[in-house]
Amino acid sequence: MGSLRRVPYSTVLFDLDHTLFDTDASEAAAFAATMASVGIEDPTSVFPAYDRINQALWRAVERGETTPNELRLTRFEQFVAAAKLDADPTEMADRFVEGLGSFGELYEGALGVLEALSGHTSLSLITNGLGQVQRERVRRLDIADVFDSIVISAEVGVSKPDPAIFDIVFDHIGEARRSDAVIVGDSLDSDMAGGVNAGIDTCWYNPNGKAGRAELPLDLEVQSLATLPDVLL
Ligand SMILES: [Mg+2]
Repeated sequence: MGSLRRVPYSTVLFDLDHTLFDTDASEAAAFAATMASVGIEDPTSVFPAYDRINQALWRAVERGETTPNELRLTRFEQFVAAAKLDADPTEMADRFVEGLGSFGELYEGALGVLEALSGHTSLSLITNGLGQVQRERVRRLDIADVFDSIVISAEVGVSKPDPAIFDIVFDHIGEARRSDAVIVGDSLDSDMAGGVNAGIDTCWYNPNGKAGRAELPLDLEVQSLATLPDVLL
């Protein structure tokens, strides 16, 4: 544990993907629809190749080497080349992004946790992703009203862990909130390192009990979202 706990927190920043939202299910459904559109009926045969490319590109986004809006197409350009497909990467990229918005649900219990917290703290969403995808998910899941601020990296031009994206959230909700804010997220590289860089407390959502990192001291860790009201309020 790092700094002294500042419970109750007046401000909670949430990551979306793999924290509140079942991104794996969303991606699998969107990927299957995209592959079907180019005649591949067994998406599992080519998914590992796509997944490697996509994950490497998102890590490059976190390092500031590319942008989400570039990644949107480059992942399919690289995938078409790697899988030796005769297909149009632009059409695949469009169909995939449409699917990412249309498929996938919040993790079970996540909405209840947001509702339990929202009466007591200010909630914001801070997500590395594409505007078109994340806006459609938030609209479809009907969660926009829970958040005082929704900041999406592709819309603002900076990504977690850059503290500049946190500055944008605090511009929206008030700089005074930074001193008793906490970020909840699953990623050490983007959410937890970002929280440390922004000078706020960190709460690692670690459902699979992964090992942390000595060089990244965190304030809190939960294995289940359901424990958040007890831990944060
Ligand atoms: Mg995440």
